[in-house]
Amino acid sequence: MIEIRGLTKRFGSLPVLSGIDLDIAPGERIVVIGPSGTGKSTLLRCINFLDRPDAGTIRIGDLQVDAAKASRAEILALRRRTGFVFQTYALFANRTAQGNIAEALLTVRRLPRAEALARADAILRDIGLSDKADAYPAALSGGQQQRVGIGRALALDAPLLLFDEPTSALDPEWVGEVLDLMRRIAEARQTMLIVTHEMQFAREIADRVLFMEGGRIVEQGPPSRIFDAPQDPRTREFLRRVR
Ligand code: ATP
Ligand code: MG
Repeated sequence: MIEIRGLTKRFGSLPVLSGIDLDIAPGERIVVIGPSGTGKSTLLRCINFLDRPDAGTIRIGDLQVDAAKASRAEILALRRRTGFVFQTYALFANRTAQGNIAEALLTVRRLPRAEALARADAILRDIGLSDKADAYPAALSGGQQQRVGIGRALALDAPLLLFDEPTSALDPEWVGEVLDLMRRIAEARQTMLIVTHEMQFAREIADRVLFMEGGRIVEQGPPSRIFDAPQDPRTREFLRRVR
């Protein structure tokens, strides 16, 4: 079980997260939607302390971290329990596809090199990129780079996967292959928290959709209810604009 309580973040005088409470069940797939500048990325980034929350607690399994007094060791432990997929892939340009996936296994998990590379090869097979093991990011298409980004997030077997608009930076021709891979991960009942504008995809794979505005969760529920019968006028207005 994952429990987020009172997660709060300001940038200067700007409140960006206003006390987010969220429980995520094992295997649950949650999609976050909402207007630009509403705190969706900040929520994901605060969950693994890429942005340091001002207040709140995050519990993943038996690890509980309190933002007010989190130690460096606790933050690293929390990061090991999350895989993060960035909009712009954020691959290491000087590492091959295999090297990108093996990196955290070597530096975080401290696996012996042969073991890390073997695990990376298994992931490359899963993501359909065995033939690109030795390719550097610059030689890969956007879709292939993002699949490596996802492979890297899978490498540590983290109990929570965070995806921040994983297809938004892609040319339209590469979106399908990335969504297909995410569908397979969802079918394996990985716990996923996904920010996306792909509403059809959300409808297919989400157990729950959260609509955020102004740093708060305004409304949440199963996709059929949020998309077909939204209760809050702000949700209705947002959906009317994106459709
Ligand atoms: P989008 O849909 O455009 O990605 P979002 O919902 O992900 O938007 P955030 O990126 O979380 O929004 O940003 C929320 C607010 O916090 C915005 O007003 C943004 O300008 C501000 N913000 C985000 N990161 C920083 C930062 N590092 N420094 C200052 N302000 C920031
Ligand atoms: Mg964002």
